[in-house]
Amino acid sequence: MRAMVLEAPGRPLVAADLPRPDPGEGQALVRVLACGVCRTDLHLLDGEVDVPHPPRVLGHQIVGEVIEGAGKFEPGARVGVPWLGWTDGTCRFCTSGRENLCEQARFTGRDIDGGYAEYAVADARYCFPIPEDYPDLQAAPLLCAGLIGFRALRLAGDGERLGLYGFGAAAHIICQVAVSQGRRVFAFTRADDADTQTFARELGAEWAGDSLGPAPEPLDAALIFAPVGQLVPAALGATDRAGVVVCAGIHMSDIPSFPYEQLYEERVLRSVANLTRQDGEEFLAVAPRVPVRTEVTEYPLERANDALEDLRAGRFRGAAVVVPPRSAA
Ligand SMILES: [Zn+2]
Ligand SMILES: [Zn+2]
Repeated sequence: MRAMVLEAPGRPLVAADLPRPDPGEGQALVRVLACGVCRTDLHLLDGEVDVPHPPRVLGHQIVGEVIEGAGKFEPGARVGVPWLGWTDGTCRFCTSGRENLCEQARFTGRDIDGGYAEYAVADARYCFPIPEDYPDLQAAPLLCAGLIGFRALRLAGDGERLGLYGFGAAAHIICQVAVSQGRRVFAFTRADDADTQTFARELGAEWAGDSLGPAPEPLDAALIFAPVGQLVPAALGATDRAGVVVCAGIHMSDIPSFPYEQLYEERVLRSVANLTRQDGEEFLAVAPRVPVRTEVTEYPLERANDALEDLRAGRFRGAAVVVPPRSAA
């Protein structure tokens, strides 16, 4: 099968012909229909997040057709394979409803070969049925940008005035969810990024502007999706008393120091890591009800490097999705 492989960090992915993977106990074999591109993939590519055992096929937002079933998935079913690929089920985090923090967790496209390929295998217990309303490409960004964005939104609490810092794949989804919940959304982007500011307003943000400038009014919560440490003091400075700032990415540049008064008055600064299966089930039930619409840019699998570099440069709105060549099952 064709695949795009990370051989070593700091180098582009390499096109390769790999043997089709054989599903192990409890694993489904899926033909990849579409795989979303996530900023985490850039961090893996750049070596900012470690890939323990390269070479590795990246890609953790897989929409696939089940070829060999497992668990609740029959052949022909459409299945979503997310970042959380396996947990031990026994550590103190797993046994307290926090499998996202499992000490032995394995992640799709980091510890397990992912979806930048024609086929993938996945532990069926960690996969989700894809809501029928979504075509393959539009469903793909729900599986990480959507799921982890939704977890970040929940951890931000119920505040009405919500800031979104960085308006890419995750924010374009979470903006729609937050507006549907009756929140007021403020989108913070690079000062000169008028296209993204327009995009945010189209999706229901009532204001969009410079992430390092003043907010139009104090925020109750802020989600930081851009991997820029400088945004942490900026977001804290934009929040009201008891404001909550959630860092939603897996990696961020160093956070500059800031005066304690920006944290004082019971402001909260926290991160979000990974997802639980419950996050996935809840979000995939919520998304069609909003209904969340995703904007995607399609790249053929062999152009995965272009998708990643376009993500780095902010050359598309919403999310990038790679699509393998159509092949016989
Ligand atoms: Zn991701
Ligand atoms: Zn565990």
